[in-house]
Formats: sequence, structure tokens, C-alpha cells
Amino acid sequence: MNLAELLEGLNPRQHEAITLDGSSALILAGAGSGKTRVLTTRIAFLISTHKASPHGVLAVTFTNKAAREMLTRLSAMLPINTRGMWVGTFHGLCNRLLRAHHRDAELPATFQILDSSDQLSLLKRVIKAMGVDDEKYPPKQAQHFINANKERGLRANRVEAHDPFTQRMAEIFAAYDAQCQKEGVVDFAELLLRTCELLGRNATLREHYQSRFAHILVDEFQDTNRLQYQWLRLLAGPQTQVLAVGDDDQSIYAFRGADVANMREFQRDFGDTVIKLEQNYRSQGNILEAANALIANNRGRLGKSLWTDAGAGERIRVYRAPSDLDEAAFVVDEARRLQREGVSLNDIAVLYRSNAQSRVIESALFNAGMPYRVYGGLRFFERAEIKHALAYLRMAAQPEDDGAFLRIVNFPPRGIGARTLELLAEQAQGRPLLQTARESAGAGRGGAALTSFVAMIDVLSEKLRDLPLHEAVDHVVETSGLKAHYVADKDGADRVENLDELVSAAKQFANDSEANDLAAFLAHASLEAGEHQAGEGAEALQLMTVHASKGLEFHAVFASGSEEGLFPHEQSFNTEDGLEEERRLMYVAITRARRALTLSYTESRQLHGQTRYNLPSRFLEEIPEQLLAPINARKLGASRPAFSPAGVDNASGFHIGQNVRHTKFGAGVVIGTEGRGADARVQVHFREGGQKWLALEYAKLEPA
Ligand code: ATP
Ligand code: MG
Repeated sequence: MNLAELLEGLNPRQHEAITLDGSSALILAGAGSGKTRVLTTRIAFLISTHKASPHGVLAVTFTNKAAREMLTRLSAMLPINTRGMWVGTFHGLCNRLLRAHHRDAELPATFQILDSSDQLSLLKRVIKAMGVDDEKYPPKQAQHFINANKERGLRANRVEAHDPFTQRMAEIFAAYDAQCQKEGVVDFAELLLRTCELLGRNATLREHYQSRFAHILVDEFQDTNRLQYQWLRLLAGPQTQVLAVGDDDQSIYAFRGADVANMREFQRDFGDTVIKLEQNYRSQGNILEAANALIANNRGRLGKSLWTDAGAGERIRVYRAPSDLDEAAFVVDEARRLQREGVSLNDIAVLYRSNAQSRVIESALFNAGMPYRVYGGLRFFERAEIKHALAYLRMAAQPEDDGAFLRIVNFPPRGIGARTLELLAEQAQGRPLLQTARESAGAGRGGAALTSFVAMIDVLSEKLRDLPLHEAVDHVVETSGLKAHYVADKDGADRVENLDELVSAAKQFANDSEANDLAAFLAHASLEAGEHQAGEGAEALQLMTVHASKGLEFHAVFASGSEEGLFPHEQSFNTEDGLEEERRLMYVAITRARRALTLSYTESRQLHGQTRYNLPSRFLEEIPEQLLAPINARKLGASRPAFSPAGVDNASGFHIGQNVRHTKFGAGVVIGTEGRGADARVQVHFREGGQKWLALEYAKLEPA
């Protein structure tokens, strides 16, 4: 593309942001206003006008998917190889930097990355080894404690611990870090913290990167946490121009420490050039107006307004489903209809607030034979069989990795029992388990099996050194006995397929990236965990949580489960901040849609093994009525009893599922009834007050 083509069709503010010279800037703008497009185009502009070299640009985004998309777009705009460019996620870029300077960072060259479940198992081991009561100090809580502190930039010795509980947590934190160091593993938060510490203490290195990166660009800036902001400040030198783009109304990671205050700090640290983009190019008028009206209910916004010249378009459809099954059937029918109208399934998204909601929708799609892809569900690299295979590879790459050792020492089963492993742990006294097993003569049945396990790992490590990556993976899958194990399992066909897919993934990795060694592939597997999908590319309906949909856009969007308790989530009811975060989430969901938006809610739903009777989400009421087009339940749904057991009317005069109003508790829905006459009681789920049993004789309850 030439320069004129690059800049064609931009509005004046976008043009300004792309060509800005000599200062940093914050782009503060609403959904669909072209922030990401500006960011990508700016990189292309800087490179094609020789204001920067590909080597001198660093761009950071939130997901691997977004990073890949950015690289693809850049390749389309520029005649350069984008492979070596520093475009990635915070974690990915930290990983790259730490590998390049592993000695300075005090890590082994082959350091491995722990995902959240690996981290939890390591913590369990640490807590057990310390002899700490894991009921009083639950590993999950310790995990949260450690991550939250690391995200604030704090190590165990800097945690403020004024009470015995926190003191003990800090001790667990310290022991955990020591064990990680011993095994040569780092967790996600550690990737960032290590990098910050390294850049903080090593001025030579810091200045090297500061002068290298003339331009740093950050997408989705509203969701950065304190540590990520610190990272940015360390990498940006006096000459670096930083462009951060974000939307305070789309900040949805407060629960992980995201801090919108970073936006104000940015203006203090990098100058107060703020560019606002106000034209929305994504959504049609009604959709945009609904989003604007909804988000106006939040307080303390930085304040923006969005407009479009796209025309009003369709109204937003609101579908009331008698049950979650019906909701799923509706989605299938509607997707079919859109498909007949020529819309690609790739351009249709079904969004939900919680992962648990996807099961019912998936099974309806499966039964209807409609291809679909779930983003961020149980992810490829997190599947048990894949983690087993990776653990063999990790063992071979890094024999100190006790987590990997424990995962595979008796998988597939080879007669090494818990007792043998306990003995081994005692013997080890902190030394790596594999080494200890190698040194100890194998006594008894377990001991002999252990000895042959060690021999197998040794042969494997030797062999892997000489094989190209994908052959190494194939070799491991075969010789470890994993494949044979799943082949023998009558339900193992899927797993065998996944193991084969792992070999393909290794092949693809070696083709796509500069580094093709084992350690790099393993890091890729941990970092990519969420996002690699087998068969990506084939046309399929897109299923994902609202969180995962950030930054994306679709022709048609279904926001399912728009119900009180689900969306907004019940855990948010108690605080205004919590509710506002839910509202921002709904804002994100709505603004993903270009032309067609459907909000659906169910009157009853099975969730976590319980039947829940729900009220429509309060967010539906915050959208002006003239923008909405209610659709009634389809014939099929309507002819079935709405509730199961069928809306039993009893002596109370109320029936399950009925909307009611109470003078004190407000609006609610009847979810249970019992007794008759003076004893009659009804159970009501109140929008504000939760569930209550009320004696009818006294309760001021009316049909609503
Ligand atoms: P979000 O806040 O959801 O991340 P965003 O601000 O990053 O949104 P983009 O994804 O960059 O918005 O742009 C939204 C859509 O508008 C894209 O399809 C993009 O190509 C298109 N777009 C942006 N600017 C223009 C323009 N000047 N002319 C035409 N289309 C544009
Ligand atoms: Mg964007």
C-alpha cells in the first residue's frame, strides 16, 4: 500500500493520531471508533515513512488473537516480514525479553511457564511440605494472594502483614517463590514482575531497550494493571513516543487489578495530548444509541459521545425464552436464518456472561449439526492429554521441573504408588525428584518401576536433542506410552486426535516463528493456552464469553442469558462498583454488533445443577423502549409448559414463575410455594433482596 492508500478514508482526528509526531498521546474513545485501526495504521505509517524501523516498534495488545490479527493487517499494508517484530501480549513480550536475558534475570535458559492449574498444584505441594493446615490456608486463596501481590509489584518480603493470617500467607508466598526458582518455573504474574525487576535494576539493559523502541503502542489501555503500567514506564525512554488507546467504558478487568487510574497517570507521565474519536464506524444507529443510553447510567465516566452516520438499522430484538433449552434452540434457528440470508457463521457470535452457559448452547448446536467454535472454553493446551504430553517434553527440557515429574511419573500407570512417591519426596529434601530417583537404588516393585521411568526419561532427553520439533513431539507421544494408553481406552478417540493435533501444532509453530526449539514451543503452549483452536479458519459459529469478545466485531450478536443474577452477575449486586463493571460488560457485548443484536433471557434455567427462575436483566430496562423489538417465544416454546414442574398453582393463589411485587422488597418472581390457608408460604426471588420465604397471610405480595 502506498501512503495515500494507507491514509484514505480516515477522519481528521484519526489522521491526526496516526501522523502525530514528536509527542506521546492518549486516545480516549468509545467502542468501534477505530482505535485499533488507528494503532495498526500508525505502525504502518511510521515504518513506510521511515520514521521508525520495524525493529524499533513495540506494540502490545491483550490477546494472542488480537496480536496475530495486528500482524496480519500489517503484512497486508507493508511489504515487510513482520515475524521478528515486537508485537504481542504483555506476557508474550516479557517471555521474549526474559529468554533473551535469562542469565541477568537469574533464570535457566529453558525456564518453563506455569499456567493457573500448574501454579495451584505447585502451591498445594508447597503448603503440604510446610506442614501448614490447608483448610485454614486454602491453596486457592494463597494463589489469589500471591498473584494479587505480584500484580501490585510486591514480593513476599514487602507484603504488609499485620495479622497472623497474612503473615502465614506471606510465608507461603516466599516458600512458593523459592520452589519456583528451584524448579526453574515462572507463573504468569512472575513473567511481568521479573521483567520489571530486571529492567529496574539493570540500567544498561533498560537504556538499550529504551533507545531501541522509538515507538510504543498499547491497545486496550483501560485494562492494564499497575504492574503493566510500570513495565510500560520502564521501557519508554525519554525519546520514546507512546500511543495508548483505550475506553474507560470498556474496562472489565478490575477483578484482576486493572486500574483505570492509569489513564490519568498516563497524562501526568507522558504529557497531556489526548485525542478523542467520536464517530463510530461499526454499529448501526439503534445499536449505538442503546449502548450510549445504557452506559450513561454509570457514574464517574471520563465522558465521551459516539455518533454514526450509518442509519438507524434494525431495532434490538429482545427474546424471552421459557427455558434455556428454548433459548439455545432459538439461537440455532436464528443462525440458520442468517446463514440463508448470506451471513457467514464466522460473522455471528453468541456471547454469554459465564462459561457454564455454553454447555446447553453447544449441545443444541451439536445436535443441529451446526459447526461452532468456542473461544476460551476448555482450551486445547489445557486438556489433560496435552498437558501430559507437554510434561514429558518439559521433563526432557528441564529435569528440575518437579511439577512435570509428578504429573507423568505414573501416567500412563506403571505401578508407582503414592507411598513410593512420598518416600522419594522425603529422600529428596528439596533436591529435584528426578535426580533423587536416579540416585536411589530402586527397592521393591515401585522402586524398580521408578528406575525404569528414569531410564526412559534419560533416553528421551538424549533423543530429543537431535530431532526437529514436531518429530520430537511425535516421538514423545509414542514412546511415553501415552498414545497407546488412549488408543486402548474405548473413550479415548478424541484424545488420540488431540495428541495428533499437538504434533501439527508443533509443526505449525516451527513454520510460523523464528524460534523453533523445544523451550520456545513449551512457552508458546503456556501462553497461547487460551487461544489455539484446532481447525481454526473453517467456517463456524463463534461462541465466547463477553470478556473474550473484547475488541472483536460481528455482523450479528446474540447476548444470551440477559438475566438478573447472571448478567448482572449476582456477585456484583452488593456494590455499586461491581454493578458498574457489569454494565460496562454489557456495553462491550452490545457494541460488538454491526447490524443485528439480539438480547435474550430465560424464565428458567438449569445452572450448576439447580433450576433457577430469573427476572430479565435490569440492563434491558435501561435501553429506551423505542429501540427494542420484543419477540415472543416461538410456537414450539410457547406450546410447551413454561416451567417444569409445570407452573403448579396451589392454594396460595400464586404460581411458580409469576412476577410479583412486595411493598418492601420490590419486584420479584415466585420460585416456590408450600402449605395452604393460613400456612401458605411462597418463596420469592427478589431482584434486590435475593430469595425469601414469605407467609402469605402477612406478606404484602401482589401480582405484578
Ligand atoms: P473497540 O473499542 O471495540 O476495540 P475500536 O475503537 O478499536 O473498537 P476498530 O475495531 O478499530 O474500533 O474499528 C471498528 C470498525 O470500524 C472496524 O471495522 C474498522 O475497520 C472500521 N473503521 C474505523 N475507522 C474507519 C474509517 N475511518 N472509515 C471506515 N471504517 C473505519
Ligand atoms: Mg479495539
